[in-house]
Amino acid sequence: MLIDLHTHSRASDGTQSPGDVVRSAEAAGLDVVGLTDHDSAAGWGEAAVVARELGIGLVPGMEISTKLYGSGVHLLAYLPDPTYPALVDELTKILAGRTGRLAAMVGQLRDAGVDITEDEVLAQVGDSPAIGRPHIADVLVGKGVVADRTQAFDEWLSWGRPGYVTRYATRTDAMIEIVSAAGGAAVIAHPWGRGSRHVLDKDTLAELRDVGLVGVEVDHQDHDDHDRDDLRRIADDLGLVVTGASDYHGTGKVDHDLGCNVTAPSEFDRLIEQAAENAAASGRSVPEVVR
Ligand code: AMP
Ligand code: FE
Ligand code: FE
Ligand code: ZN
Repeated sequence: MLIDLHTHSRASDGTQSPGDVVRSAEAAGLDVVGLTDHDSAAGWGEAAVVARELGIGLVPGMEISTKLYGSGVHLLAYLPDPTYPALVDELTKILAGRTGRLAAMVGQLRDAGVDITEDEVLAQVGDSPAIGRPHIADVLVGKGVVADRTQAFDEWLSWGRPGYVTRYATRTDAMIEIVSAAGGAAVIAHPWGRGSRHVLDKDTLAELRDVGLVGVEVDHQDHDDHDRDDLRRIADDLGLVVTGASDYHGTGKVDHDLGCNVTAPSEFDRLIEQAAENAAASGRSVPEVVR
């Protein structure tokens, strides 16, 4: 039973359509795939149609931009009602922040001598509602300014680089409460990856659990074996669900192939149970798990 709960499509910054992510998941031998585009449920419908066609499991989710003590924390929200008003309000603000910083980023890059326009970026974005730095990276790759997305981030787009501009994110604890009230289950993505490591110690994870955090993504390429052992121990102590996933972005992220990390079936069952409990308590109409 192979369960990979964190992937991206062209509904955010992946390189494949939502349907093609599901097709690739089936071809890779996965039994269940979670589609978790950044700050959007836009890919859910197409993914569900293909999952039913192919007979592969699908968990609709999203990876929400939050911040804690000034650091970015990515929060995976599984199975929330995407029409829950407080969730809609926050996602609207986050997406507006993504769109709103584009002009500033392009301006700063141009000031730094890079020949790039907003229209070129928008051509990469297509109909994704979530404009991301990877779309800008892909323009830079296309022009031969850099070799790949990684080099684009290292030289131009990461914090402190010429193209960096900050954007709106919801507080992590507030978003955990919103996701739970929307009938979903909140899991912190790559807690000890770039950016969030120093703010997510055991005490903080305990506080987040107390406001409704369900799990932590332990098995992720951003974590070495030592981190995984330490995080797994913390999760066990705190009663948090342990997940594992690829964070697949198609060809957009190397060494993140589908199924490179997976979630244990017993942990998956706990996650789905918690989501069902939150759904029942919320009275919201939540999306179905395709089985
Ligand atoms: P943004 O959504 O604009 O904040 O950009 C962050 C996104 O860029 C995340 O989805 C990451 O997966 C992606 N990303 C960050 N660093 C890199 C990198 N070095 N190579 C490829 N993708 C990256
Ligand atoms: Fe991404
Ligand atoms: Fe992430
Ligand atoms: Zn991700």
